[in-house]
Amino acid sequence: KKVIVIGAGILGASAAYQLAVMGAEVLIIDRQDPGQATDAAAGIICPWLSQRRNQAWYRLAKAGARFYPELISQLKEGGEAHTGYARVGALSIHTDESKLDRIEERARMRLADAPEIGVITRLSAGQTRERFPLLAEGYASVHISGAARVDGRALRDALLHSAQQHGAVMISGDAALAFEPGRVTGVNAGGHYYPADEVIICAGAWANPLLMPLGIDFKVSYQKGQIMHLQVSDQQDTEVWPVVIPPSDQYLLAFARQQIVIGATHENDVEGYNTRVTAGGMQEILTKGLEVAPGLADGTYSEVRVGFRPFTPGFLPVIGAVPGWSGVLAANGLGASGLTMGPYIGYQLAKLALGREPDLELDDYSLQRAITGG
Ligand code: FAD
Repeated sequence: KKVIVIGAGILGASAAYQLAVMGAEVLIIDRQDPGQATDAAAGIICPWLSQRRNQAWYRLAKAGARFYPELISQLKEGGEAHTGYARVGALSIHTDESKLDRIEERARMRLADAPEIGVITRLSAGQTRERFPLLAEGYASVHISGAARVDGRALRDALLHSAQQHGAVMISGDAALAFEPGRVTGVNAGGHYYPADEVIICAGAWANPLLMPLGIDFKVSYQKGQIMHLQVSDQQDTEVWPVVIPPSDQYLLAFARQQIVIGATHENDVEGYNTRVTAGGMQEILTKGLEVAPGLADGTYSEVRVGFRPFTPGFLPVIGAVPGWSGVLAANGLGASGLTMGPYIGYQLAKLALGREPDLELDDYSLQRAITGG
């Protein structure tokens, strides 16, 4: 079967990889828009502490986190040494012990249904600082051993590289759907027509105009996120440090080679797709980040990355066939947890494209929710 994947963020990269592994003939077309969410994201995989009550969201996020270890070992067996993924654990920190009681309770409640959470350990402020030495004093924590971090850029590249090893072809270009009444027949890009049995749209924040020619008003919105990379002194073995989840909406992640990532901003109502690094954005990241980890004050500034988190109505992803059309599938709205869910959703898209049964009931994620008048 010939399948074209539009968009090579985490979602498109994952779908393309799985399709290629399953033996499909795959063409990936990506426009490399500045602000690709996957390119900026770094990457907490720890959905079990979330306070969101939406069960459909939790089911996806949980399945996404569970999916990782097997995918990573499959990629490694295939020769991909740098997947950007490491199960380093997470520290949910707080100065208020009763809040930590609540966090621990929630984690333990979810453990029965999600053994991949691993071991849940309550740590004193002293023990917490031993795990992440740059933290301020006074933060105790709940440690979750099964949590992980992933560098979106590295994982995307590993998936795309492996997809190509399995025969997928990747081109850069601005894709538009080619169609006849009721059926998408392929893609036009760079003055060429590429026919396909199925087209999968993984276009993140830029998806709406792709569906417009079909008369479909797709309702993807997006939120800008700025995220900062710092380099700390070379005395530190940062590679094994856990992810830090503070009470605020900011977090800290450590990577190899003394790299620390802090952020991110959540900016709605941004004008157009502007990827500007702003003074206010940097101030917010540094103020919140240094309050939690004053040890970062001496870190060397490396860069700020900017990405657009794609959202669909209800803040719940959509996955599946485009209503009223054959030959075309889409997924979108991965929001702030797309690195967690993306590889798993991409796998489901690949199965759908090849007419196989997906691993989960997709009714809750129908594209209809993101379409008005559809
Ligand atoms: P994208 O990665 O945005 O990719 C879409 C691609 O489609 C782009 O490359 C674009 O150029 C291409 N495209 C669009 N239209 C066309 C066209 N017509 N032709 C060709 N190509 C096209 N998630 C977590 O789970 N944990 C985290 O800790 C986390 N942190 C984040 C931090 C930040 C700062 C940001 C911005 C996001 C974070 N996320 C996190 C969320 C996650 O990054 C996103 O949900 C996910 O990357 C979305 O992936 P995507 O493939 O749908 O879209």
